[in-house]
Amino acid sequence: MNTASEQGAQRVFEAPGRVNLIGEFTDFNEGFVLPAAIERSVQATVTSRHDRRLHIRSEGFEDTADFDLDDPEPQAAGHWSDYPRGVAVELQRAGYRLNGANLSIRSTVPIGAGLSSSAAVEVATAAALCAISEISLGHRELALLCQRAENNFVGMRCGIMDQFISCHGEAGYAIMLDCRSLEYRQFPVPPGIQLVICNSMVRHALAGGEYNQRREDCEAGVRALALSGRPVRALRDATLADLDRAASTMPERVYRRCRHVIAENLRVQRAGEAMLDGDLETLGGLMAESHQSLRDDFEVSCPELDLLVGLAVSTPGIRGARMTGGGFGGCTINLVEEEAVASFICAVSAKYSKDTGVVPEIYVTGAAAGVHEDLQ
Ligand code: ADP
Ligand code: MG
Repeated sequence: MNTASEQGAQRVFEAPGRVNLIGEFTDFNEGFVLPAAIERSVQATVTSRHDRRLHIRSEGFEDTADFDLDDPEPQAAGHWSDYPRGVAVELQRAGYRLNGANLSIRSTVPIGAGLSSSAAVEVATAAALCAISEISLGHRELALLCQRAENNFVGMRCGIMDQFISCHGEAGYAIMLDCRSLEYRQFPVPPGIQLVICNSMVRHALAGGEYNQRREDCEAGVRALALSGRPVRALRDATLADLDRAASTMPERVYRRCRHVIAENLRVQRAGEAMLDGDLETLGGLMAESHQSLRDDFEVSCPELDLLVGLAVSTPGIRGARMTGGGFGGCTINLVEEEAVASFICAVSAKYSKDTGVVPEIYVTGAAAGVHEDLQ
């Protein structure tokens, strides 16, 4: 039965987490990424209220949150609810008037593992709030709005990839996104292949600061390239030959950071072609190169991720393995032949546990659909 604070029917919106197959640290360089939505998602259940309050709770979090939608100066509080609240704030800043709402969040996306639980929360929330407020937003606008919520309200300088794929995912397909133009194209996950995500269960504390330093290194590289006469706005515009010509004008570390980004953009393009051709050999080779480049040039891997990739590539049925996400812990992505998945999990799990004393979580998934209403 509805209480006084509720009106209207309950509706449920679901938005997936994601895994990036290849194209790491290319997004903020206006380059290319190739993520797939995963079969783990956030469900936002929403009912509208008579008043102008937004009440939010989340399964697994004890404290609830309650806000006035007319608060003239909403501030982030360092609380989990900053993410859904930021979405409400950005929707209203964009000129939409929200109904009061009760929002209840459930999730199967592991938090902080690099599978983008935050974007899934934002996108599911945005879809739910829009629906009960009769706001009609396309997926592109929805993704951009959720990114703004994370950039402006939460204060995380994330790129557009996570929110974009959570909106645009398609069952059976990865999506190659041009992070400059936001043009995108679907690429089929090869038949008979499962996406197997191995969670190292570690998150090294330096991740945040190192991320900002990598961004600064990339910006320094762009400045050096521009001074050397190349018309570059972002690393996306530079070739490896451009970089080599400008190499003497930048620190060696900056050179290696740029080499990773420029080469990674090329790898994304070639990976897309390999997926269209069903050429798993090439795809796997590109994933291996990507991992090496992230480890040696971009220096964002860690012993646990290197171990997981090393174990994966010596296991039968593996067709490609690399670290995925921001690095310094988090997950690897593995392309594994369907019939080999069970033995792959046993082998990797046993050896990783033995070497590190930590039991990895392993998630098996196909490429999933993006945000949608759950019509139960
Ligand atoms: P991830 O890689 O999972 O996106 P982030 O640090 O970017 O990691 O986002 C994690 C944050 O997102 C959490 O600290 C919390 O604030 C929010 N979040 C994620 N999942 C949930 C959930 N199920 N309920 C409430 N908040 C969540
Ligand atoms: Mg996140």
